[in-house]
Amino acid sequence: METEYRECKKCNGKILRTVLNANHSVCPNCGNYLRYHARRRITALADNGLFNEWTDKGGTSNPLKDESYVETLTKVKLKHNLEEAVIGGEIWVNGVKTVIGVMDTRFLMASMGHVVGEQK
Ligand SMILES: [Zn+2]
Repeated sequence: METEYRECKKCNGKILRTVLNANHSVCPNCGNYLRYHARRRITALADNGLFNEWTDKGGTSNPLKDESYVETLTKVKLKHNLEEAVIGGEIWVNGVKTVIGVMDTRFLMASMGHVVGEQK
């Protein structure tokens, strides 16, 4: 559950999430850019906020056979509703059909594995 406020690390101001969302994650006090999730960024750009997401669930490999890696991926996927570090799909911008891909840092700081490179 999200808290009602976020704190700006530059000016230490507490900002209502609704205000921050309306301001596209820019601090209204000092102009600092706060983290902006990929889906939120995409829908902010899209005409009428409509987004046809193509992100493929593709599957993840674990070439080093590290069980903690699998555990970490599972936690990240569930916590942030992300299947991969990239969110992609189709939007319309000012009436022009556009394909878009945005990295989301909540997914292991947007690290690129083979699934990211294979997204359509
Ligand atoms: Zn600030």
